[in-house]
Order: sequence, then C-alpha cells, then structure tokens
Amino acid sequence: MAEAEETIFCKIIRREIFADILYQDDLVTAFRDIRPKAPIHILIVTNLLIPTVNDVTAASEAAVGRFFTVAAKIAKQEGIDENGYRLIINCNHHGGQEVYHLHMHLLGGRPLGPLVS
Ligand code: 5GP
Repeated sequence: MAEAEETIFCKIIRREIFADILYQDDLVTAFRDIRPKAPIHILIVTNLLIPTVNDVTAASEAAVGRFFTVAAKIAKQEGIDENGYRLIINCNHHGGQEVYHLHMHLLGGRPLGPLVS
C-alpha cells in the first residue's frame, strides 16, 4: 500500500480539530457525524490510517473487530440497542465513500427502512 494521504479524521483522532468524541482507545475513535443522516449517526474510525476496506490486512483485524464491540457499546449508551440500528462501511466511489480513512457508520434513532430502494 502506498503512503496514504492524511485525512480530516486523522486530525480529529489527534484532537487537532473538534469533533464530538464519544469513545477512544488504542485502536479506534468514535465521534458524531457532522452531517447526521439519522437522529443518531456516529462514525467509528481506525486510529491508524487505513484508506479503504481493500487495504485491510491481518494486521488490521483487531481494529476492525473493535468496530463491532464499540458499536454495540455506543448503541446501548445511546439507548438504541433494543429498537436496533444499522452499521455501514462504504468502499470507494461506487460504495459512496467520501473520506478515505476506514470507518463504520452507526445509524439509528428511527426506522431506517430497506437499505436499497
Ligand atoms: P463516507 O461517505 O466516507 O462513508 O462517510 C464520511 C462521513 O464523514 C460523512 O457522513 C460525513 O458527514 C462525515 N464527515 C466528513 N467530514 C467530517 C468532519 O470534519 N467531522 C465529522 N464529525 N464528520 C465528518
């Protein structure tokens, strides 16, 4: 993998620019999306810059696995675990990826309907 370009999420992780950070550990950081698409819209990002799912290797499995434990923990904190929520990872152009820094969307707080209409 060529050296990846620094992203806006790198600055958020280092707390150089503001985001409403809900959780941070050695592997991942979670913060509220600046343009929420649902009442609850949180991004969980890898602390190390991995551009897309295509760049995930065995070395990133711990961070990617952490996405799910953190999503479940935050969903409970936000009170949406029982009603349910949606987890999305976009990859590259056709997937709708805008920020090339691996992240999972946690969306909830209302019925989200079918994924693709
Ligand atoms: P993608 O389309 O890459 O899967 O999702 C990128 C997400 O990052 C979008 O939902 C967008 O609103 C969010 N985002 C982009 N820039 C910022 C930012 O500076 N701060 C926060 N909190 N979210 C951002």
